[in-house]
Amino acid sequence: MRIPIARTVAELRAAVAAWRQNGLKVAVVPTMGALHEGHLSLVRAALEKVDRVIVTLFVNPKQFNSAADLAAYPRTEHEDAAKLAPLGAHILYVPDAADMYPEGFATTVSVNGVTEGLCGAYRPGHFDGVATVVAKLFLQTGADVAFFGEKDFQQLHVVRRLARDLDIPIEIVACPTVREEDGLAMSSRNARLSPSQRQAAPKLAAILFEAAARIAGGASVDATLDEARSAIAAAGYVRIEYLELRAEEDLAPMHMFDRPGRLLVAAWLGDTRLIDNVAMPARQGAITRAAA
Ligand code: AMP
Repeated sequence: MRIPIARTVAELRAAVAAWRQNGLKVAVVPTMGALHEGHLSLVRAALEKVDRVIVTLFVNPKQFNSAADLAAYPRTEHEDAAKLAPLGAHILYVPDAADMYPEGFATTVSVNGVTEGLCGAYRPGHFDGVATVVAKLFLQTGADVAFFGEKDFQQLHVVRRLARDLDIPIEIVACPTVREEDGLAMSSRNARLSPSQRQAAPKLAAILFEAAARIAGGASVDATLDEARSAIAAAGYVRIEYLELRAEEDLAPMHMFDRPGRLLVAAWLGDTRLIDNVAMPARQGAITRAAA
């Protein structure tokens, strides 16, 4: 069993046009490859919702901040295709960087507001790269629905905003973060961790969940996050970029747990940057306490 591969927009559009003639509903799952269970969960969710699923594989040079990071990014197209075929995904779109950004390419999609702070503060240009490529993928595929992981929560907001602002008729579906058994959020970057780093890595998620539980139980947001920062450092993380509570709906900073929130973190373990987040649905008790 093999998954058909389209390498040009023309091939992709021909396949989608044939589906459209038959009245089929189409989804796209954008990825940078090196597929793991997190990616595959998006594909499964898409297959449940629509008739035809396009998975895209493009290591987008515009969203990398450093040439070294781009060069080190795993490229495993053959293995990725082999993982997708048994699921029943319908086409793998693997565009060439020279076709995506030909000589003279001059357009950047830049989303304000939700890109302020968090990863936006530490990865200049990253979300412009994401927004530009995602807008292109939406327009190239013409999909009805797109699936994204909550793992990249700020990115999810960027994508929702750009679809809304540019009137791209696509529904954005968010899927929960898939974790390793020890709690570490799955990521293509986890493979870069040494055995001892891999052992320490899940402490980040554990500390995040613990802090979320304490805040939900009524503890002070700022004091709890200060303690959590110390715990993350003690766990072996060399640099904490951010650990913040933000509003679920619009990513506004929160210092009181008075509405649904997200606790988001980015920290470095050796040379590897890991991000994670946990949902904090507002509970009646917590809201009352914060408002009191
Ligand atoms: P990437 O290949 O890292 O660009 O990710 C492609 C898509 O997979 C994005 O929508 C990510 O949010 C999503 N994704 C990555 N890791 C996970 C995970 N552990 N659980 C759920 N979705 C994920």
